[in-house]
Amino acid sequence: MIYDNHGRPITYLRLAVTDRCNLRCFYCMPEEGINFLPKPHLLTFEEMLRMIQIMGDLGISKVRITGGEPFVRKDMMQLLRSISEVEGIEKINITTNGVLTAPLVPELKKLGIKSVNLSLDTLDRERFKEMTRRDELPAVLKTLDALLENGVETKINAVVMAGKNDQDILPLVAMTKELPVSVRFIEEMPFNGSGLNEAAFMSHIRIISKIREEYPSLAKIADEPNSTSYNYTIDNHQGTVGVIAAFSRTFCGTCNRIRVTPTGTLKTCLYDDGVLNLRDLLRSGISDSQIKEQLIEAFTHRAKDGFEAESMRSSLVSESMTTIGG
Ligand code: SAM
Ligand code: SF4
Repeated sequence: MIYDNHGRPITYLRLAVTDRCNLRCFYCMPEEGINFLPKPHLLTFEEMLRMIQIMGDLGISKVRITGGEPFVRKDMMQLLRSISEVEGIEKINITTNGVLTAPLVPELKKLGIKSVNLSLDTLDRERFKEMTRRDELPAVLKTLDALLENGVETKINAVVMAGKNDQDILPLVAMTKELPVSVRFIEEMPFNGSGLNEAAFMSHIRIISKIREEYPSLAKIADEPNSTSYNYTIDNHQGTVGVIAAFSRTFCGTCNRIRVTPTGTLKTCLYDDGVLNLRDLLRSGISDSQIKEQLIEAFTHRAKDGFEAESMRSSLVSESMTTIGG
């Protein structure tokens, strides 16, 4: 097992498999995109699998595949199939924007993927186009239908910004009346490729009070262990509602995550700027046990929370979330 220097067990890998994406969400990337990395800089599938096997040996039991958009990487289904065979990995989840995902859902289900996070910030086609700079809402809604038809647990991620899409909070909450989905509102973070905060920040507290004004029966429920979301029910709604205090960073105390970027940089916190170059280690010819030692070592000087990690960075947060995975 890996334990960090604060006694927290590390059991969950978030792997960003690509920095490329077919959307340009304005809170994540500039309109023209970022300087996407040349392919040789990215981890190969073989390197990812070896790394996951090593981590599986060290007690990592859950893997989330994220990006960029995972399904723009060629042969993604093949990678997922191989990960599903790795000893020790009990759960594979995916975060996707849903543009290409609908036709793949039955196969995802067959591979044992029981839960998918679908990013959806608005149900209004024009606003979706403004926010993502692409007209893809119908494709995303098809993915939502496919997930529900196939009985895949669906969590909807919506980044909320005052004056941009705060009018979408209540329509998204209303979806939970008829649909068994968990809609989670995420505080905006400055990972947008420029470091500038384009929109007004809306805290999880403000988001919850806005929902409570409309739905006074909003009631807190128990959260899953290591959850980053605070979750609520509403009377007579099939689904649930949650908030993720990603900028306020209220959940660091139970963080069990290890993050790996598309170039194989290990992050022990979303807010750090990388603590170990796993890609170079994987390419250096050293043994699995030597890599294990380095992984364990990396967690012996982990920041206690996202504020400390941010203060230890060599540069201000400005990188795009597409290079980290969220
Ligand atoms: N492309 C996939 C998607 O959008 O679902 C996976 C990668 S995306 C970087 C992962 C998550 O990060 C998404 O739910 C997205 O909304 C969130 N995200 C991106 N930029 C963000 C930001 N600046 N602040 C908060 N969340 C952000
Ligand atoms: Fe792409 Fe996801 Fe970033 Fe949107 S949030 S630009 S879908 S990586």
